Amino acid sequence: MTNQLPSLILKKGEDRRLRAGHLWIFSNEVDTKRSPLVGFEAGALVQVEAAGGRPLGLAYINPHSLIAARLLTHGKALPDFGALLRRRLRTALALRERLFEQPYYRLVFGESDLLPGLVVDRFGDVLVVQIATAGMEARRATIIEALQTEIAPRGMVIQNQLPMRELEGLPTGVPEVIGEVPEKLTVIENGLTFSVNMAAGQKTGWFFDQRDNRARLARYVKGRRVLDLFSYAGGWGVTAAKAGASQVLCVDSSAGALEMARENAALNGVAVETMEEDAFKALAALREAGEKFDVVTVDPPAFVKRRKDFKAGIAGYQRLNQAALQVVAQDGILVSCSCSHHLPEQELLNIVQRSARHVDRYAQLLEWGHQSVDHPEHPAIPETRYLKSVTLRVISNE
Ligand code: SAH
Repeated sequence: MTNQLPSLILKKGEDRRLRAGHLWIFSNEVDTKRSPLVGFEAGALVQVEAAGGRPLGLAYINPHSLIAARLLTHGKALPDFGALLRRRLRTALALRERLFEQPYYRLVFGESDLLPGLVVDRFGDVLVVQIATAGMEARRATIIEALQTEIAPRGMVIQNQLPMRELEGLPTGVPEVIGEVPEKLTVIENGLTFSVNMAAGQKTGWFFDQRDNRARLARYVKGRRVLDLFSYAGGWGVTAAKAGASQVLCVDSSAGALEMARENAALNGVAVETMEEDAFKALAALREAGEKFDVVTVDPPAFVKRRKDFKAGIAGYQRLNQAALQVVAQDGILVSCSCSHHLPEQELLNIVQRSARHVDRYAQLLEWGHQSVDHPEHPAIPETRYLKSVTLRVISNE
């Protein structure tokens, strides 16, 4: 019964976003006089109420986090979490099975799949799970059980290294491995095979979010010289090589990433060259040497992780794109990406445009790109829209 749950009461007017569909309650929106946050245990289920008493849904709470609570349902009835989770997993799976012939994708994308704080990537019969919040952590055993019931993987890796876990006051450390997990995970993407080493791998091992953007790269590269900056395991570079690029150079600061890139090229019967270097330094050296590339992809880690990093982040993107433009050949292509939610896509375009002006080139916008379809957006939660890319043709101003 709902009345068994403690109430989390919002301040006047703070129910608007939730009623529009958002799932988050920030700590400063809580009426802490009527429902003191300190009175709650991290991960506990609460009933959320508007100031006037209107029930808004059921949420799990974390009194120590800026995002104090995340809604599990807008309904009133106390959900059996296990049943709710299994139902939502099946719903998430149905989308991916409809989209992809083979089981390599982001299976659960947190809030967008109505499972706030939970991300699951699927590498065939191995799942890589991120549990980011205290509310999900409190239900860890149920999550593992539900994944076993619904997906029956051979093995699972539960990541514990996420920065978000620190914000939630959760322990971080080595991943938990359940069942059989090989040292290398396989991904089949756009008809290519990739292998990623989880020990050297980052985040979840593969950036599935760029699948569609990588696929669209293929038409620009045939017979061309390609530079893949921040290449990681060669997602863009190997795709380009396979699509007929005459030469591909992958640049990353991580030796492990580049080793994977070379292996992935070989796995697909092509080759890439690699340069282990900071991307900014690599660009300076390439420019110094007079090198030019027909296609340059720029896919850096997020420079704007938090709103307060906005200015510094913009400056970073600007410096990077400017340097990248300087090695783009006449009538070349620049693909510039940002995975920072806080950087609006128009701002990314503005940055590239300013960079082009700075180096006295004309950059013609050909395409916009976004996160792939297995990372759906929750229309009421702008934070679920994060990856953007612009593809530009770079010509002279004359
Ligand atoms: N393009 C990749 C994903 C990039 S992830 C893909 O499509 O899969 C970001 C990568 O940038 C990581 O591999 C990391 O090692 C690398 N990196 C981070 N900072 C860097 C820097 N300053 N110079 C070069 N590489 C960097």
